[in-house]
Amino acid sequence: MNPYQSLRNTPAFADLCRTSARLGRDPLQVQGPGGNASLKDDTAMLVKASGTWLSDAETEDIMVPVDLRRLRKALKSGDPEADNGAAFVPEGENPGGLRPSIETSVHAVFDWPVVLHTHCVATIATALRADAGQVVAERLADLGAAFVPYTKPGLALAQAIDAVTGPETRVLVLGNHGLAAGAETAGEAERLVREVAGRLAPALCGQERAVPDLPQSLGDHGWRAVDHPATTALAFDPGMLGRLRGGSFYPDHVIFLGPGVFVADPGEPAEAAFARATAEPQQKLVVFPGRGVAMPADASPAMQAMARCLGDVAQRLDPEAALTRLTAEDEAELLNWDAEKYRQTLDRSPAAGA
Ligand SMILES: [Zn+2]
Repeated sequence: MNPYQSLRNTPAFADLCRTSARLGRDPLQVQGPGGNASLKDDTAMLVKASGTWLSDAETEDIMVPVDLRRLRKALKSGDPEADNGAAFVPEGENPGGLRPSIETSVHAVFDWPVVLHTHCVATIATALRADAGQVVAERLADLGAAFVPYTKPGLALAQAIDAVTGPETRVLVLGNHGLAAGAETAGEAERLVREVAGRLAPALCGQERAVPDLPQSLGDHGWRAVDHPATTALAFDPGMLGRLRGGSFYPDHVIFLGPGVFVADPGEPAEAAFARATAEPQQKLVVFPGRGVAMPADASPAMQAMARCLGDVAQRLDPEAALTRLTAEDEAELLNWDAEKYRQTLDRSPAAGA
């Protein structure tokens, strides 16, 4: 039996799949095909495939083998091939033809047998703060946490992680991105994820239930109201709208909904707003101030999950905190990255979301 099959046959792998599925079903941890998980020994790693959903981990084979020794060597030498893991899948070990996650290199450098990476909304709400490093030090130091300022996923992020981690580092708060936890077992790693989420979650004040007041005619233009109260509430909160106009918060929003959100002018007809929003670069979340938030009627499950995520993150933002946003260059880098185009393609294919 080769090292990949041996790893797949361990109880630890079954545990990883169970834990992955549980986290994948929690929209406050994972949205759509975001987040990933891995199991490794000294030479081999199994990591979630790009574009697949963690929630499917128990019912579908979504884990891809990676030659860890070769990938680590490439990362050390700064080999551009290490930017995505595709070149490190051992021949004959990937009958499904899946590509390893675009965040495979993160799993390779974070040196724990199990690594879980989630887009925990409480963590994102902290990771957007200009003082995120300080908050992480204050609230998570005893968990062995490190803060890594925003870096594009792939080789650059792996190098940034490598620079700040030591043997005691068990938690990574990734700026404008999310959370990673490393441990000996999937159960321990999940406990860390839950502990961090609990410590970073603010007490949510009772929010009035926002009801969208958007015209029926949205459907005529191929759009519909987003039916998630926390996202609808964005349209009724002028302070939050001001913050949303400042730019994109985190990568998966850009990938699935375009950069930032489009805010319609007061009294602007829906049709005109949609025409302006869908000019390049396309924005697929349109806010009508005081009325509601709209998205394309044929939005994929991943787009719907990302629309909900924005409301869930916004609900957890400290109203006083200064925020860091992705720059226009960060957005362009994500939208023009082949590995992300592949993930977008999977999202548009009929199998996506199934
Ligand atoms: Zn991520």
